[in-house]
Amino acid sequence: MPMNRTQSELWFKRAQSVILGGVNSPSRSYKSVGGGTPIVMAKGEGSKFYDVDGNVYIDYLAAYGPSVLGHAHPHITQAIERAARDGILYGTPATSEVEFAEQLRAAIPDLERIRFVNSGTEAVMTTIRVARAYTGRTKIVKFAGCYHGHSDAMLVAAGSGPSSMGVPDSAGVTPSTAGEIITVPFNDIPALQEALSIHGDSVAAVLVEPIVGNFGMVAPESDTYLRQVIDLAHNHGALCVFDEVITAFRFHYGSAAQLYNVHPDLYAMGKIIGGGLPIGAYGGRKDIMEQVAPLGPAYQAGTMAGNPLSMRTGIACLEVLRQPGTYEGMDRKAKRLVAAIEAAAKDNGVAITVNRIGGAFTVYFGSHPVRNYDDAMATDSATFGKFFHLLADRGIIIAPSKYEAWFVSAVHTDEDIDETCRVVADVFKALAK
Ligand code: PMP
Repeated sequence: MPMNRTQSELWFKRAQSVILGGVNSPSRSYKSVGGGTPIVMAKGEGSKFYDVDGNVYIDYLAAYGPSVLGHAHPHITQAIERAARDGILYGTPATSEVEFAEQLRAAIPDLERIRFVNSGTEAVMTTIRVARAYTGRTKIVKFAGCYHGHSDAMLVAAGSGPSSMGVPDSAGVTPSTAGEIITVPFNDIPALQEALSIHGDSVAAVLVEPIVGNFGMVAPESDTYLRQVIDLAHNHGALCVFDEVITAFRFHYGSAAQLYNVHPDLYAMGKIIGGGLPIGAYGGRKDIMEQVAPLGPAYQAGTMAGNPLSMRTGIACLEVLRQPGTYEGMDRKAKRLVAAIEAAAKDNGVAITVNRIGGAFTVYFGSHPVRNYDDAMATDSATFGKFFHLLADRGIIIAPSKYEAWFVSAVHTDEDIDETCRVVADVFKALAK
């Protein structure tokens, strides 16, 4: 029997008459999965979602990454309650921001100085300003398909959201802004070398997602790739910025840089570190960070920055992530799920490629390896759209875009994985028809 989604339809209709497009972030629409009414959720609990019609789903969207502890985790809820009782916004220094910054630096010692902001967009945007202030240069090298938030400069060849919407370069971004951005393919050192040999003298920073999450999950092809990226930037007098908005605390208790034993100059972070509340953070080398006001000439500020509520949920989230076995559990469950997906695809003659890093993975429809944005674009969007809807109709929620990832959280149970494996077998059977 098809799921009843009458209430979702009604709510989404209401939404569309007050909220632009019915959604507060374009990636929540079903535009890139062949259309349909986005499911309106009423409640999240652990690994589950409950929609407004009372249907239950297992959630692998994880709010595009942050919900690494699932929904309404008791430790997070308690932190929110406590913080609320103490007042949620001071506009003065507070103990929570100091404690949280100390914990982040203990996990990632490269963060010699940190600033909290309210989103990943702000974090990346500010690292660019700081890099320009420090180097006195203007250009930024980024990698095609990497998404770094929606600041003007970062909407050039910007990956998941814009790709799905078919707006590779956003309207409203001036040619002069776009002209400061040089784009090269990921996993391609000669292309980066060439770009830097032409523009090197005016490049302030090379900005990269060390493990890409925005044309699906794509890891560096070799263990030395990121080291080469950093060395090339430095050889040309530029800084290297890692955008770890998705990757920080995703694969282990720390950064992706640590997995490759490299040290970028600056980091941008967000998502997981807020435990589900709005957050961003940037930080890195002390001498570079000292460009920022009140110590230096680069300005960045925020009424809500470092608010006690986000700080306390961030601290609570890290406390849970530090527990032994957390990351091993996510890795093990994702591995089992991917094995079932690959087996189901094979059994039914559907060509897929899965890129998995720890608890995060992307299922691409196509038989070619996906190592850069062009490879991801060349995968089959129509089949992905069908896959998405077949999963949703059977109680599995993933992101409605072929450029996103499934996130296995710390609270997915073995029963959730069993159930998802069963659904996946059924879905591939339906896809093959
Ligand atoms: N950088 C990366 C790598 C991201 O994936 C995202 C969001 N998907 C951002 C930056 C922007 O973060 P936010 O949506 O919090 O502004």
